[in-house]
Amino acid sequence: MLYDDFYVKSLIQTVEDWPKQGISFRDITPIFSDPKGMRMVVDAYVHRYISTNISHIACIDARGFLIAAVLAYELQKPLILVRKKGKLPGKTISQKYALEYGEAELEIQEGAVSAGDEVLLFDDLIATGGTLFAAIELLTKQGAKIKEVAAIIDLPDLGGSQKLRDSDIPVFSLCAYNGD
Ligand code: AMP
Repeated sequence: MLYDDFYVKSLIQTVEDWPKQGISFRDITPIFSDPKGMRMVVDAYVHRYISTNISHIACIDARGFLIAAVLAYELQKPLILVRKKGKLPGKTISQKYALEYGEAELEIQEGAVSAGDEVLLFDDLIATGGTLFAAIELLTKQGAKIKEVAAIIDLPDLGGSQKLRDSDIPVFSLCAYNGD
């Protein structure tokens, strides 16, 4: 289905002052409950990546999983989960990163990717880029190369997408919002 920017943006709800004062939370859950919107979003990524030589799709806990899982199924690529600490069994490697207040930690399973893998990394939204850079560290530490970072929403004023591009990592997002 042809991607309609206006339609998809009309589904994304902005919730002011959530989860805390001063944050404009961009809620993508209405996309999941709208089959047409879901198809448009997934198809936009399918069209972009169907002829590329990505070998794996990695996605970040938790909203990133929902689109990336469908995309991996459509493109018939292995799906790698980058999860919050303590969720993955077996041997894992982890990476701490800074949040606005405090820190968080992401993990992947040891051996999830290896040298030569060309990974598309997916998350729902790019803000400061801290989450994505932590995921990139975990994937590249195991020898993978990041072919592109994809997101539904970019918040360019928070600088994450520019930082990624400055690190020679291509970035693709379906829409952007000014401010934070
Ligand atoms: P960052 O690490 O600053 O790039 O933040 C990105 C992560 O935090 C993503 O996984 C988003 O799900 C979440 N996030 C950050 N800011 C927002 C926002 N304004 N609305 C919705 N999710 C957000």
